[in-house]
Amino acid sequence: MRILLVEDDQMLSNGVSLALTQNGYVVDHVRTGADADTALSKTEYDLLVLDLGLPEMDGLEVLTRLRQRGSSTPVLILTARDSLEDRITGLDLGANDYMTKPFHLEELEARIRALLRKETWGNLTEIKYGDVCFDTVGRRLSVKAVPVELSAREIAVLEVLLQRAGKVVNKNQLREHLSSWEAEISFNAIEIIVHRLRKKMEGSGCTIRTIRGLGYILEPPKVPGDLSPDELQ
Ligand code: CA
Repeated sequence: MRILLVEDDQMLSNGVSLALTQNGYVVDHVRTGADADTALSKTEYDLLVLDLGLPEMDGLEVLTRLRQRGSSTPVLILTARDSLEDRITGLDLGANDYMTKPFHLEELEARIRALLRKETWGNLTEIKYGDVCFDTVGRRLSVKAVPVELSAREIAVLEVLLQRAGKVVNKNQLREHLSSWEAEISFNAIEIIVHRLRKKMEGSGCTIRTIRGLGYILEPPKVPGDLSPDELQ
């Protein structure tokens, strides 16, 4: 999951960036409204954390322009304690939630989890696919009810594949969700992560199939008598 953080307060943005990165999210950070607008028109983010008082372009303007471009990216706005009007305007302009400064990082993290869960999993706290069960709250995988240890990057890849289960996930799409400006992930690294995920999901009946030249597809257990395209060749 890739998040754009728009905040001009250095200390606050460092703290938020660090916390989100430790939670396995990929974070890009900009300090001005104009930079946010540019980033949002180039990259499809999974979530936007948007301060309202920003240099160059107001946060509300950034939000207005984002929605005008037809983007449904969830937006959490950060506002000052006394700005009831800003909060109402922000929500009416299409923000999904807000936090009033100062706030506890734990609460911001929980709100981000809730927003991403709603957007990605339709509020479900558990996704079952064959014998694979993914807990969307704790972001934990179990296979046949046995917990499986996953790295932050493995979780990130699994989430993208599960979101689009049964559909081909383009390698570029995968890379865009996993890379930040500071750390671009290579196709080679993605292959290694997928390889590890396959091993960890062994016995679940679910497979991650490579579609040459395109990407990957997470498939449910095969029904007996149902031949895969590979076997038909
Ligand atoms: Ca500010």
